[in-house]
Amino acid sequence: MAIKKFKKSFTQQESIAQSGIDKAVEVLQSGRLHRYNTAPGEISETALLEQEYAAYQETRYCLAVASGGQAIQIALRSVGIKPGDKILANAYTLAPVPGAIHVVGAVPVFVEIGDDWLTDISDLRDKAKESGAKFLLLSHMRGHIADMDDICEICDKYGIAMIEDCAHTMGATWNGRKSGNFGKVACFSTQTYKHMNSGEGGFLTTDDAEIAARATILSGSYMLYERHGASPPPETFKTIRLETPNCSARLDNLRAAILRAQLQTLDDNIQRWNDRYITILDGLRNAVGIRIIERPQHEAYVGSSIQFHTDGVIDDRIPAFINGCMARGVELKWFGLKDPVAFTSRYDSWRYIDDMPVLPKTLKALSTTCDMRVPLTFSEADCRDIAEIIVEEAESAVVLN
Ligand SMILES: *Cc1c(COP(=O)(O)O)cnc(C)c1O
Repeated sequence: MAIKKFKKSFTQQESIAQSGIDKAVEVLQSGRLHRYNTAPGEISETALLEQEYAAYQETRYCLAVASGGQAIQIALRSVGIKPGDKILANAYTLAPVPGAIHVVGAVPVFVEIGDDWLTDISDLRDKAKESGAKFLLLSHMRGHIADMDDICEICDKYGIAMIEDCAHTMGATWNGRKSGNFGKVACFSTQTYKHMNSGEGGFLTTDDAEIAARATILSGSYMLYERHGASPPPETFKTIRLETPNCSARLDNLRAAILRAQLQTLDDNIQRWNDRYITILDGLRNAVGIRIIERPQHEAYVGSSIQFHTDGVIDDRIPAFINGCMARGVELKWFGLKDPVAFTSRYDSWRYIDDMPVLPKTLKALSTTCDMRVPLTFSEADCRDIAEIIVEEAESAVVLN
């Protein structure tokens, strides 16, 4: 058997398109990088981006901000969350999510995930009832979208306001409706490893005028809210503008210029991600020791990362399997690791949170979960090579069982 080694980087994104580079250079030459620094009659790149993203997302209002994490913090404050309020949240998500809950002084009520990485509906139902929480911060973690009919029904029944974290579902839909359009407000990230890349950046979208107005002031608009691209009419700001603190989390024209160019090709890129995702998934389908999960039919996902279970490999052998893949250039994350590497995604890593629960389902699901990024710099042939390496390494790990 030919020992293949994969040579490309799992963290290498594509270049910014020439049209984006040209626009960015224009912004640099103009010297007007701040979103409110415009020439007479000029609409800033940031305001134009807000208009265009609102149109793409099919929402009334869109606010561009400095990061996805900032979008979440602002969303939590703009729906009226106060210190001590309980927020139902994923036990499996990225650190900016519990971080945002913590900095607004709220208390997370972590909800279990199932084997399919989706929010466990019966646990959500129980905790919605028992905790009395009036908010749900739902991360569509790694792009997996739970049954939104069930989730909306639970929210309606208990009077819960939903905030969607769409860091991994920008451009995805559930039952034909864009992810982010199910709750009161949605948050997106344009950090380098998400679906659009401005280094750092994010969006908040909503159809609620008051939430949009509060979010705009919170983002640091000063009294210049009329210079936004997709914000509510000035009347909405009348009292909100003086009653809402400025948290200084604006986006700038340089990053907006780069993002406007990328929005043009977002849907094409989603197709390219999914072609790669399917190639890898098919390659792993009949592997020994590996179990893939077929995704729900209602979900039109964006395959920018892939997950699978290693439950044919006994626990002690999983690190050897991960290291074997790594030695051949295939970079997998394993969520069963006791001490997190590079980032934290499992609730028990967030030790600043008091009264940490024990969530056996989540721990069990993550104990065999592997995760891999699928950058667009990989070709479909690369994806076949990657799957082959994973299959071979899993086979040797199973043989050693
Ligand atoms: C990336 C990410 C965010 C936001 O991250 P920023 O780096 O602050 O833009 C939020 N939630 C999840 C699940 C993420 O992966």
